[in-house]
Amino acid sequence: MRSEVNLKKDIIEVGKMLHAKGYIAATDGNISVRVSPNRILTTATGVSKGFMREEHIVVVDADGNLLSGSYQPSSELKMHLIAYKLRPEIKAIVHGHPPTCTAFTIAGISLAKCVLPEVVMTLGVIPTADYATPSTGEVPESIRDFIAKYDAVLLDRHGAITVSSKNVFDAYYKLEKIEHTAEVTLKARQLGQVKTLTDEQVTKLADVSGIGREKLCEGSCVNCGSCGQGTSPILEKTAVASSQEGAATVTCDEAVVGKAAVQSGGALGSLEARVKAEVITEIKRIMNS
Ligand SMILES: [Zn+2]
Repeated sequence: MRSEVNLKKDIIEVGKMLHAKGYIAATDGNISVRVSPNRILTTATGVSKGFMREEHIVVVDADGNLLSGSYQPSSELKMHLIAYKLRPEIKAIVHGHPPTCTAFTIAGISLAKCVLPEVVMTLGVIPTADYATPSTGEVPESIRDFIAKYDAVLLDRHGAITVSSKNVFDAYYKLEKIEHTAEVTLKARQLGQVKTLTDEQVTKLADVSGIGREKLCEGSCVNCGSCGQGTSPILEKTAVASSQEGAATVTCDEAVVGKAAVQSGGALGSLEARVKAEVITEIKRIMNS
């Protein structure tokens, strides 16, 4: 077991990496390490996590009460505390605002799809928790069901949270992994389409890694077709419509629209589904004009 002094140094190192990678801006983000069931090291509010000193890391109990330190912990500590309460094996948590995966949530495009094998084998799919007002009790409630099961969760319009049962570096690597997934997915979308893995490929990955299909194809997945249910393994189709000179390319996630329609009894209840339905209608209008 590393000493608290060394664990604080680890947190400072992870803060520097978050800042260097552009995963946090200004005083965003927070990091914590659980030393024992009722003793958690966490970053102070109001300081850049890229330039922390040891005094910027405070000690709190499992309910967030300050045990030592002259700074206040972040108001987002609530998110960490619920994860620690739900999962006794978690040792460290990182929260940041990586721009590309955050942009996916703002665009209403889910990353809960079986696309990259190494991500499927380690994290499963990457679910998105519903929007919650930052710093309020809404945030821990919004992640409760996901963080109980997943090590990496996107927060709608608010970055991501990752947890580790090993150490704070491992939690950070998971954040790096989901931002990389978002960047690769963005490039694939720009090239034209995102091919999801097939049912057979996902079954093999689940067998090899032991990750369990429930982390891939139930609850938070968007029925991308990898589980063999309904839709084609190729999820996202691209429609190209001419506009004056050149072409405008718009990508439609028709499977998401279809699933939302089913879930809401055909009423297209989610904002994501409504926006995508409008995009599809607009493409059809352009192509017919
Ligand atoms: Zn935040």
